[in-house]
Amino acid sequence: MVRYEYRCPACGPWSVALPMGAAEAHRSCPTCGDPSPRRWSAPLLNRMDPAVARERLREEASRDVPEVVTSVPQAARRRARRDPRQARLPRP
Ligand SMILES: [Zn+2]
Repeated sequence: MVRYEYRCPACGPWSVALPMGAAEAHRSCPTCGDPSPRRWSAPLLNRMDPAVARERLREEASRDVPEVVTSVPQAARRRARRDPRQARLPRP
């Protein structure tokens, strides 16, 4: 089922779910019965959060053209704290 939109000149926009391709150019308004012309609209696609969309685009781009870094990122420079118990372990 596809949701088609119509616009009644007196009552305003309304929509109806019909099988694909079954929409007519004009349909009777469910409120007043006047013929309403079909209104073209965008398909019902979910809008994504802009931050998520930006990261997905960046992820896709990194598949073919990965970002080039010239230095080690700051977080990777930190050394892990040594555990004092490791000092007592036998050395090879
Ligand atoms: Zn109407």
